[in-house]
Formats: sequence, structure tokens, C-alpha cells
Amino acid sequence: MQASFEFSSIGVIHSCFKQKFGIPRQPGLVTEAQASLELLPPYDCAEALAELEGFSHLWIVFVFHQSLRDGWRPTVRPPRLGGNRRIGVFASRSPFRPNPIGLSAVSLQGIVEQDGKRLLKLGGIDLLDGTPVLDIKPYLPYGDAIADARAGYAQAAPRASLSVAFSPEAEAQIQAAEVGYPGLQRLIEQVLAADPRPAYQAGKPQRRQFGMCLWDYDVQWEMVDGGVRVTGLVLRPLDETP
Ligand code: SAM
Repeated sequence: MQASFEFSSIGVIHSCFKQKFGIPRQPGLVTEAQASLELLPPYDCAEALAELEGFSHLWIVFVFHQSLRDGWRPTVRPPRLGGNRRIGVFASRSPFRPNPIGLSAVSLQGIVEQDGKRLLKLGGIDLLDGTPVLDIKPYLPYGDAIADARAGYAQAAPRASLSVAFSPEAEAQIQAAEVGYPGLQRLIEQVLAADPRPAYQAGKPQRRQFGMCLWDYDVQWEMVDGGVRVTGLVLRPLDETP
């Protein structure tokens, strides 16, 4: 007989990624991608976090909250297979699964208190802003890292293959923005080098101009000679939800 369970979130992610476009396909691929995990009461107590700082990496168990309405299918088309080969949903890390639960190993960069909230500072994330978190577990190298594991169609990490250049205007805008967001230029570079464009382009006209949201900014970029050229950085209006 099928069992059903009810869970409530223990925290929420405040991420540099305000929309799905641009989010890396796995954690660790964009090392500059950062988030704060805000713990919610009653899980924000110091006791629940005792000894956590001894761990450099954590497993974050979360809900793909922006895919809830899309449901699931038995097969999916992973972007790394070009988006045109179907595999079983359980052989994939797709958000569109029977129970839309995600699992990411991320770095723990610190635990801070800010405005009465307790925050875990995370790096190398692949999480959308607002992601509800169900659980946190320490990453245990002796059990979790399996050096000789086989990984089917995903044996090698996807290569960040695009060259990324900046227009003089964009460079100046990014330098100004780095005052509030140190590492912003490296973040933009890493995200774009990994080529965030949808994998499945067949039959569609090739677009050349793109935009994506990172932190409070719209990053504008274009494809030129097979590489990326960042053309501008625009501060988003405060109340604008991407
Ligand atoms: N590492 C996790 C896993 O394996 O369960 C997630 C892998 S999934 C392929 C990563 C993608 O999920 C990201 O590129 C982003 O598009 C999407 N994503 C991240 N957070 C999400 C959320 N809260 N709701 C829906 N989709 C999300």
C-alpha cells in the first residue's frame, strides 16, 4: 500500500538566482553561486546547529517548488544529452519527478545571525530563490564520495565551453555593482561559460540576445562568433519579480 507523508519546510533559500534561466544544472559547477539558507522557527535554534560548522559541505534536501504544477512523466530529456534523447525519470536529476524533491551537495561558508535571523551561507549552489528546504545533512566524504562510481550517460562533468567577454560599458557597470556583490563578474563568467541556453533548439530560429537575473541585476548578453559578449548590467526595480 502506498504511504503518504506531510512535511513542512525548515528553511528557505535566498539565492543569487531569481529565475530558472541561468541556474547551473548541478551544484559545484558554478563555485561563485551563493545563497543564504534562512532557518525558520523553531529550527533556527543554536542547539539544532551545534557542531555543524565542523563540516565544509552539506546536503540540502529541498522542494522543486517552481515545478510543482508541471507534474511528472516516466521519461525525461536531460539537457546534457542535447535535450533529444529520452531516459527514465529515475535515471535523471530532473525537477519533474513523482515527488519533486531535490538534493544538492553545497559548501558551507559560515553560519551568521543577521536581523534576528540565523543564516547558513552556502556556495556552489544550483537553487532558485525562494526554494523551500526540507532538511540539512552533513556531507560525509567517507560514505558519500565514491571514487570508482559509474555514472551512465553523465560520467564526466559538463565542460564550461563558451568564451565570455565584456563590453567596456558592462565592465564598468559590473565593477560598480561589485561593491555590494563581490565576485559578481566571476559569477557572470561562470554561469555564461556553462552555456545556459536551452539544449533543445532544433527547428527554432537561433536567438542572439539574452537576459538573465542575478541578484538584483538584469545581465544582458549576446552570442558573437560562438562566444558570449556581456553588453550591460541593469539594476532591476525593487518590486519586480522576474
Ligand atoms: N542538484 C539537484 C538534484 O539533483 O536534485 C537539482 C538538479 S536539477 C537538474 C537543477 C535545476 O533545477 C536547476 O538548473 C534549476 O533550473 C532547477 N531548480 C532549482 N531550484 C528549483 C526550484 N526551487 N524549483 C524548480 N526548479 C528548480
